[in-house]
Amino acid sequence: MQVVRTIAEMRTLRQQLDGAIGFVPTMGYLHRGHLALVERARSEDQFVIVSIYVNPLQFAAGEDLTAYPRDPNRDRELLRQENADIVFIPSDSEMYPTGFSTWVDVEHITERLEGASRPGHFRGVATVVAKLFNIVRPCRAYFGQKDAQQVLIIKRMVADLNMGIEIAVVPTVRESDGLALSSRNLYLSPEERRAAAVLFRALTLARELRADGKRDADTIRNQMKALIDKEPLARVDYVSVADARTLDELRTIDRTTLASLAVWIGKTRLIDNMSLE
Ligand code: AMP
Repeated sequence: MQVVRTIAEMRTLRQQLDGAIGFVPTMGYLHRGHLALVERARSEDQFVIVSIYVNPLQFAAGEDLTAYPRDPNRDRELLRQENADIVFIPSDSEMYPTGFSTWVDVEHITERLEGASRPGHFRGVATVVAKLFNIVRPCRAYFGQKDAQQVLIIKRMVADLNMGIEIAVVPTVRESDGLALSSRNLYLSPEERRAAAVLFRALTLARELRADGKRDADTIRNQMKALIDKEPLARVDYVSVADARTLDELRTIDRTTLASLAVWIGKTRLIDNMSLE
């Protein structure tokens, strides 16, 4: 496995690869969720490139950019075990040299949910992913269903800008109590870790209500909120029952629906989602 730190070297290596290239962008501090993406790429593509870059553009002032967990040596070892071919680890000055001033702004779908709670977040995400796509020029890129809104935005960007990259979506990897794996779970104290299972319980409740024939979205949202409110360490940021393609909030469930939520557990903000099919 080659470790590459500059864009120039990444481009040179890329030119030498003849075959399907799968790309997995990450912010590092890898867990089994990330590795599921790498394994899927390994099974589908001839070459697997993984990037590790904590992108400052997608963190607002006051968010956890400096505290974001990092362990590049462990990440490299895990990727070696997964037989990744190249790991690309650029620096901030490599990605954003002085004078950088071009952004990718996907409209509408970025305004809801995570976009409403974290203004500017998706502009940072779309910009860095577009840059990474231009540097790596993959055939396919792999993203987790854990960040469902991000998947919709990247698909929109790829279609709108004719990038010609296939976007593959990998199901969310969970702990045994249902908590979605996330680098941010590290922030949780043991008590908070126990409380964090409430996200999955709320999503499961939504799915059960839907399976019981409930179609009124407000009823489902309210019951999810009530369940989370019973957990003293949890505070709801948003609960959504929305059209799975547009993320427009629904009144009546009459189409493919995604339940999603963001919940503060102490000082840690966690997100998760589940299809209600
Ligand atoms: P991140 O390092 O948080 O930016 O995540 C990098 C990629 O891994 C994104 O496409 C995420 O959606 C995906 N990912 C993160 N957590 C999980 C998980 N628990 N299961 C599946 N994919 C995940």
